[in-house]
Amino acid sequence: MLQAGVYTYLPLGWRVLEKISAIVRSEMNAVGGQELLMPALQPKNIWEETGRWESLKEVMYQFQDASDKDLGLAATHEEVVYDLIRRFINSYKDLPLSVYQIQNKFRAELRAKGGLMRGREFMMKDLYSFHASQADLDQYYQQLIDAYLKIYRRLGLDAKVVEASGGIFTQKFSHEFQVVSEAGEDRIFYCGSCDWAQNSEITEVKAGDACPKCGVVVQEGKSIEVGNIFQFGDKYAKDMNGYVNDENSRKIPILMASYGIGISRLAATIVELHHDDRGIVWPESVAPFAVHLISLKRDEAARELYDRLVAADVEVLYDDRDVSAGQKFVDSDLLGLPWRLVVSEKTGGKVEVKQRGGEQSELMDFKEAINKL
Ligand code: ATP
Ligand code: MG
Repeated sequence: MLQAGVYTYLPLGWRVLEKISAIVRSEMNAVGGQELLMPALQPKNIWEETGRWESLKEVMYQFQDASDKDLGLAATHEEVVYDLIRRFINSYKDLPLSVYQIQNKFRAELRAKGGLMRGREFMMKDLYSFHASQADLDQYYQQLIDAYLKIYRRLGLDAKVVEASGGIFTQKFSHEFQVVSEAGEDRIFYCGSCDWAQNSEITEVKAGDACPKCGVVVQEGKSIEVGNIFQFGDKYAKDMNGYVNDENSRKIPILMASYGIGISRLAATIVELHHDDRGIVWPESVAPFAVHLISLKRDEAARELYDRLVAADVEVLYDDRDVSAGQKFVDSDLLGLPWRLVVSEKTGGKVEVKQRGGEQSELMDFKEAINKL
């Protein structure tokens, strides 16, 4: 931690963030998202067009440079992306279009606590989609809900789609993705049977009431917001003058929706949901390495196994430190890589293979172990 809410990602944590990002990328590409990277350093004038320089004052880092120019650090990117779109999209034929980035956001969070759960500088994936009609936007929005649910499943998380306030832009609900957990700062009400769920900020039901959708009992729980998607409709078209001609040469607004996922908050959420009293139990999909190889005074044999694992494209972390066996085992459980391999005086020409989640270990020869992994 450099200061409250601002962190360096160390090598293992960074590998986790890269794995999460890769999963998010693959699902965003699958729905036609094109990746780009927008500036974090932004001029005041663009934010004045929507009035958000003022309304986001509390949360956005705003300052002046040496020549008194007003600048802000990106708390979000709707204004910047819409400026891009109004300049490059000239016809309804260019729509729909969807672009995204994975980038750091800056927010002056009052309570930066819980590590990566709430940072002042944190990593987000934000996608923005642009449409010529509400029907097209609605259809794409639903496609993104499905893509998000797929992402959370691949990360080993059970996320609920929760209706939440549309914020200051729209009367409509926005949709949050929430993972039920005591570590969460949100509170949601959800059905024990169907997919109905609402954030406590907007709901009118209580725990124990009948679900408005299916009648089964409503439950209440703390939860972590791991994503949030919004429809802005023509709000940005009006504020920032984003119009094109349709096929009848009528002027139509470029509609926008935005879709955020907290990449760094997700890493913290996965740890919260996947640990035991000895440490982290990483799901295979995001583990920084697949294998933790431990040598107990058998460096030559372990080195041979290491080389063969690397040659077989297995991601392996090799602990050849000169510390006690006990220390190595404790650290191995703490790091939580999915597989632990131990080469020691006791294993002879073989290797002991154990899963982080399980209790049983198995002796295998090297070839068998490599094939298994
Ligand atoms: P919160 O209510 O938790 O403050 P938010 O509603 O302000 O979040 P959004 O603008 O919806 O956040 O951002 C999209 C996603 O980015 C959130 O769903 C969350 O997963 C993540 N996120 C937001 N703020 C932070 C933060 N300070 N640190 C880490 N992740 C964050
Ligand atoms: Mg939100």
